[in-house]
Amino acid sequence: AVAAEEPITPPVEVKHTQLLINGKFVDSASGKTFPTLDPRTGEVIAHVAEGEAEDINRAVIAARKAFDEGPWPKMSPYKRSMILYRFADLIEKHNDEIAALETWDNGKPYQQAVSVEIPMLARLIRYYAGWADKIHGLTAQADGAHHVQVLHEPYGVAGQIIPWNFPLLMFAWKVGPALACGNTIVLKTAEQTPLSALYVARLALEAGLPPGVLNVVSGFGPTAGASLATHMDVDKLAFTGSTDTGKIVLELAARSNLKPVTLELGGKSPFIVCEDADVDKAVEMAHFALFFNQGQCCCAGSRTFVHEKVYDEFLEKSKARALRRVVGDPFKKGVEQGPQIDEEQFNKIMHYIRSGLDSGATLEAGGDRFGTKGYYIQPTVFSDVKDDMLIAKDEIFGPVQSILKFKDLDEVVRRANATRYGLAAGIFTNNLDTANTLTRALRQGTIWINCFDVFDAAIPFGGFKMSGQGREKGIHSLRNYLQVKAVVTPLKNP
Ligand code: ADP
Repeated sequence: AVAAEEPITPPVEVKHTQLLINGKFVDSASGKTFPTLDPRTGEVIAHVAEGEAEDINRAVIAARKAFDEGPWPKMSPYKRSMILYRFADLIEKHNDEIAALETWDNGKPYQQAVSVEIPMLARLIRYYAGWADKIHGLTAQADGAHHVQVLHEPYGVAGQIIPWNFPLLMFAWKVGPALACGNTIVLKTAEQTPLSALYVARLALEAGLPPGVLNVVSGFGPTAGASLATHMDVDKLAFTGSTDTGKIVLELAARSNLKPVTLELGGKSPFIVCEDADVDKAVEMAHFALFFNQGQCCCAGSRTFVHEKVYDEFLEKSKARALRRVVGDPFKKGVEQGPQIDEEQFNKIMHYIRSGLDSGATLEAGGDRFGTKGYYIQPTVFSDVKDDMLIAKDEIFGPVQSILKFKDLDEVVRRANATRYGLAAGIFTNNLDTANTLTRALRQGTIWINCFDVFDAAIPFGGFKMSGQGREKGIHSLRNYLQVKAVVTPLKNP
């Protein structure tokens, strides 16, 4: 496929570039801005207000006030729920415009944004709207004559730091449960993709969210992000991003006020194709597991383990599939793969491709830039990949598939688990015993059997080992935003 000669004009205007603090769009305290770029060309889309420590502080003060003085945490849960439902309705109403903004700032295929991601954003908000009036505490049977209640209360001000690969889905995973549980929020978006969250946050206000409940600050990690992580009046922190940055954020939280932290970090997920697998289906699933979203998924199936019996056929077909992958302007119909997010990621991925070549892996497809401008990379496939090669160990976060051969289940379990990560695994087999054996043995937060990247509001997501702490989505995500308060009263007449 060929990239469009001239990039297609996105069917949307940029409406909001300022910070959202206390229900108003405002400039940063310093007056500074930074450019956000179109990954298709590297050209500036808009200049966005650059939040720093002072802006984070202003946002935290607003969130604190909105929490302490209400009405949000004290509002009837039903009313909170209805505001979230209205928010979801507005997202749905503006679905196509939001999708266009997401594609423009991020480079992901418009088809994916418009038909999967933005509908999923509305779905997630509705899921959490449903929880808002179903938060229950417990009673406990204690020894002795005591009446014991366990209350679940919102934490207070939640600080949330999100990445650029799924800007609005990461927004929903964080904002949804925090709001449902009655917290107020200061959200810092990724510097690569600040636009869509501002647009959507405005819709939340329109839906009736009181001012100060959701504050959105654009800015960079070491300034705005670090200020949020160290702020003494932030009660809870949630972060999604790289493992290296996750460590920094956890340390900042510990050094400041010991705010509890939820972390969603990197991965190097195995995708295991067993000897009985239908090769054509396995090839397609493994291809999707790795190349989806330009390979920019924390759970990407980035180690494709293939049983030796089917290896040769799998390899030939995977190579052919990668060569057929349609790369080009993400606004163009039929395009499967757009550009990488920015030059830094582009260079990092090219570095890993060179490392694969240098370490002796066989390049089967791709291996180079695609086109002449923007951050496009050819769908790349390496075979003969060995466990100790950098491309088999590090998270590449790009369209680079590494295919490894295995002989038996014990061996593949050992190798699949021999990583510092533990986010997800794919298993491709029709043999129930094989599936059960692998499911039990793999140390990963999600196991996808004969599928991959199935996300649903109700399915918890998160990592073992250095892939993170805690779970998002599903019932588990509420725990991240609820404090537990034990209330004990003596009983006169037990
Ligand atoms: P990536 O390498 O994918 O950009 P990062 O983990 O660096 O991943 O970024 C994820 C989010 O973390 C972004 O919003 C980024 O601005 C933020 N971030 C980066 N560095 C820091 C830091 N030192 N403190 C707090 N947040 C940070």
